[in-house]
Amino acid sequence: MDGNKIRKKQARLLVMKFGGTSVGSSDAIAQTAHIIQDECANWEDVVVVVSAMSGVTDALIACAKSAVTGDQEKYADLVCAVQKKHQRVVNELITNHEVKVKLQDELVVLFDTLRLLCQGIHIMGELTPRGMDAMISLGERMNARMVSALLHQNGFASQAVEATALIITDDSFQHAHPIMELSRSKTRAALQPLLADHIIPVVTGFVAANREGIITTLGRGGSDYTAALLGDFLNAQEVWTWTDVDGVMTADPRIVPDARVIPELTYNEVSEMAYFGAKVLHPQTIRPVIERDIPLWVKNTFNPAFPGTRIDGCSKTERGRITAVTAIHGLSLITVEGRGMLGVPGIAARTFAAVARHEASVLMISQSSSEQSICFVIPSDMEVAVLQAIEDEMALELTRRDIDRVWAQPDVVIVTAIGSGMRQTPGVSAHLFGALGKKNINVIAIAQGSSEYSISVVVSAADADQAVRQIHEEVICNELSE
Ligand code: ASP
Ligand code: MG
Repeated sequence: MDGNKIRKKQARLLVMKFGGTSVGSSDAIAQTAHIIQDECANWEDVVVVVSAMSGVTDALIACAKSAVTGDQEKYADLVCAVQKKHQRVVNELITNHEVKVKLQDELVVLFDTLRLLCQGIHIMGELTPRGMDAMISLGERMNARMVSALLHQNGFASQAVEATALIITDDSFQHAHPIMELSRSKTRAALQPLLADHIIPVVTGFVAANREGIITTLGRGGSDYTAALLGDFLNAQEVWTWTDVDGVMTADPRIVPDARVIPELTYNEVSEMAYFGAKVLHPQTIRPVIERDIPLWVKNTFNPAFPGTRIDGCSKTERGRITAVTAIHGLSLITVEGRGMLGVPGIAARTFAAVARHEASVLMISQSSSEQSICFVIPSDMEVAVLQAIEDEMALELTRRDIDRVWAQPDVVIVTAIGSGMRQTPGVSAHLFGALGKKNINVIAIAQGSSEYSISVVVSAADADQAVRQIHEEVICNELSE
């Protein structure tokens, strides 16, 4: 890979995470092993983090759900399919008899666990978040063993490591929060001896455990976060996440065919992108690396010669640059309006407290300075509950007509233009709104965080794709070609 040879033996530790598609088939896993082996020549130490094979986490969720609904035959079929998918990789890749026998033994234990968990869920007729975490951890646990076995077969000392021994979290099953200092010491104690012995650890991404050792997970897509955490704990020089695209793109290429790879991004920009719907990295990923200023790269397993996207703390362009445009679909805009709200303290606090009681995440807020309305955006599936909650909370104000109405506009999309270069650069929003105006795209609401890393507009779902294309063409492309 570019420049890496120069770093040879100067650089110390590299953490590499391989996402689902990078380990999604025998060919992909073989390619992943090559990449790991190549980087072993360039770095003193390499730590590998793997996701489940693509589709496996979803398949495990399906197993659990059909077990709880009581359909025994269906979950048995689903379990078989998961087993076959892994078995096939073993048969196709592992030719060394000894390695194969050991791997088979390890996998059988996990296949049995999968069956037992399904049976338990089925008999109890109950699926708890804790039970779900035990289920969905299995994909990473199977895969870490397969990747490690292949490295071993290829002559590289390697060991599969359960992140349950490394990353200790609170009890928020399904989206657990790591206890940092405890996890740091556990990780160092477990991995440093392996590295000292030149053994490549292949760690299960996404999976963790609480203080009692019960399995938790870090939220969907959480393997990125695992890699960033390990990078922090082990003082890595860099963290690379391998995926199936050439890097972070200026827009979703399915909507904007001439979207391009962004060579360099700042941590702030990529956090904003993750928050505003670009499926780049797990939203928490940046937090551990930002403090140590560890560069993060997004690279393509199937095009490893391409450098990919580098993410770090320094912004190269301080001009009014917009770097990327994203969209989040499936949203509703809730408006609380009334002339009697003017100057009345506490309306916003009570509104959002009511929303919070339903655990609806608010993606964007905007209030007019006349204080006659507050509007905010939530996922559409929360719409009915949220409207009801606000009406209950504001019952008195509604009868008094201090609040005239609380209403929802469904089928809206947040389109966000991201770029840290827009800070303190006048004219960026004018450019953006001008571009939308040219195509008669109606902007329903606007928000800009005071951090000035992004501007978000709410448009109707029917206008969303065109809004994204228009911003890409008029704002991003023009600026890139300037
Ligand atoms: N396998 C998990 C998921 O699909 C975690 C990951 O891929 O990062 O969400
Ligand atoms: Mg994934």
